[in-house]
Amino acid sequence: MDPWYAKAVILAASIAMVVIRAPHGSRSRKVKTVRSRKGRLEVFLLFVAWLSFFLPLLWCFKPIFRFADYPLHPLAFAAGIVLFVAGLWVFYLSHKHLGEFWSITLEVREKHRLVTEGIYRRIRHPMYLGLFLYSLGQLLALPNWVVGPSYLAGFGLLFALRIGAEEKMMRDEFPGQYEAYAARTRRLIPGIW
Ligand code: SAH
Repeated sequence: MDPWYAKAVILAASIAMVVIRAPHGSRSRKVKTVRSRKGRLEVFLLFVAWLSFFLPLLWCFKPIFRFADYPLHPLAFAAGIVLFVAGLWVFYLSHKHLGEFWSITLEVREKHRLVTEGIYRRIRHPMYLGLFLYSLGQLLALPNWVVGPSYLAGFGLLFALRIGAEEKMMRDEFPGQYEAYAARTRRLIPGIW
């Protein structure tokens, strides 16, 4: 298959991701942050995740990763599109339900409330689930050995090194309440983990 299709889908998915997040970014800047755990590790992880998100755009417009291209299989491409759509839908819902309490890093907002309803009813990290589905979509739909897995690696690293600190922050902020919430939910996959 012509990689032109892959480029169109990657571009559309990246734009959709930015469009879904944009209103939340501008709103969250207006809500006061009362506590932040944005340490040096967080800054580094955010940088790596952003870089791995932008590599596909570079792949679309510049030939520098051409050495690692491989032929696009129609089935992988179709599965990639399904994962992109599912990931973006979960990403959208988690933003909608988390509302003004969303932030790009580990922060507590003014009048922060623990959200336990909607898409947060059965799993504690739906936004991260959405990003994992998205990164698997990229892995399948982008036929390049370096850039295809880039977001899975970059976001996977952020997730692996952040999740413990985020849950600790929430436990400290909502003692008892978060324990109870954690006891009846899973992290990413309902009923499993
Ligand atoms: N890990 C969550 C949220 C990611 S955004 C998810 O994947 O859906 C990160 C911010 O969300 C954190 O700084 C924290 O303040 C906030 N947060 C995480 N879980 C929350 C919850 N259940 N209720 C309210 N705020 C939450």
